[in-house]
Amino acid sequence: MVAYRARILNFPSVNRVEDVDGYLIVKNGTIKGVSVDKPVNEDIVDFSEFVVLPGFVDTHIHLPQLDVRGKWSCDLLSWLNDYIFPEEMKHLDPNYSAKKAREFFELLVKNGTTTALVYGPPSEESTDAAMQVAKESGLRVFMGQTLMDTNVPDELKTGVSEAKNALKRGVEKWSRGMVQYAITLRFAISCSMDLMKLAANIARSVNAIIQTHISEQKSEIETVRRMYGMKYASVYEHAGVLYPRTVLAHGVHLDNEELLLIKSRGVKISHCPSSNFFLHSGVMDMGAMDRYGIDVALGSDVAAGPFISMLPVLRDVYYANFISPIRAFYHLTLGGAKVLGIENVTGTLTSGKSADFTVLKVESMEEMSAEEILSNLMFLGDDRNVVATYVRGKEVWHR
Ligand SMILES: [Zn+2]
Repeated sequence: MVAYRARILNFPSVNRVEDVDGYLIVKNGTIKGVSVDKPVNEDIVDFSEFVVLPGFVDTHIHLPQLDVRGKWSCDLLSWLNDYIFPEEMKHLDPNYSAKKAREFFELLVKNGTTTALVYGPPSEESTDAAMQVAKESGLRVFMGQTLMDTNVPDELKTGVSEAKNALKRGVEKWSRGMVQYAITLRFAISCSMDLMKLAANIARSVNAIIQTHISEQKSEIETVRRMYGMKYASVYEHAGVLYPRTVLAHGVHLDNEELLLIKSRGVKISHCPSSNFFLHSGVMDMGAMDRYGIDVALGSDVAAGPFISMLPVLRDVYYANFISPIRAFYHLTLGGAKVLGIENVTGTLTSGKSADFTVLKVESMEEMSAEEILSNLMFLGDDRNVVATYVRGKEVWHR
């Protein structure tokens, strides 16, 4: 057993923080408890100058877009054509994907992220190579090949029968453990109805996560309506995509009827405020999500979001939605785990869960309340605050 001596903060529910100046006790990668008293006969790791938080959960990030952060464009569809598709084409080479995956996962751990839902490269082989690297990183990762077969350059397309074989192999090979397959559809504009139906069927048959984008920009919504003659959420409903393990990114312009449908299907939302600001997509209405009781987590959405660190994303969620630091950290930790369906495994530092945590330095922390520490991290924080990152009790990174 190991006991980590630190200021330990936990977010067991929205707007609630537990603040313990004490010990986080870990045995074989599992948390045994948080205690004010010094445990006897245990190895002590002294993090007394630091704050320990549950590991950060990023519920929306694109691995093949690592190198195209901060590329300005006038709107979403031009940005995809000008920067994203050319870069994703490079990922048809599995060696390139493996190399970029090493940089990608190293950056995640360096920034305190312990769990991520990731859009993978556009081919089966490259996705498999990137998932192998994910496994070596020690992180908790859900990822899959980014599927598309319409309105994208031919090189990036995967036909329905090819996708069927790739998905079947993917979900079988990556069905359990720290790295699992997530069925990944780019969005309704670049996926045919047949491709979406196939993906939905396979996901449902093995209870895998499905991820895609919805209602990010008005011009995109118009294109979807022209293509399918229905509302954005109805397109996914028609394809069978909406089910309790579905994570939809953005949802900036959903109307009441769509929100009701999303709630009734148990679908979750990944809110990506930094990305929404970057592409001037609009501001997602968190109040509406609350009214409908829809679970919301946070995503960096690299590369439309410029930051790998989730701390600037928290700053942006404040500017977008005016929520408290405590609530922001809830969405980043337990809220993220809930959206991924792994709230019994990670998301809080409580007995029986995996020891996934992030150790951070905040100047003059001793005199601060929990909320002041969180506020400092939220408005001033970035990778420089992160001292160490642990997943399943194993140090995956330290400064
Ligand atoms: Zn995205």
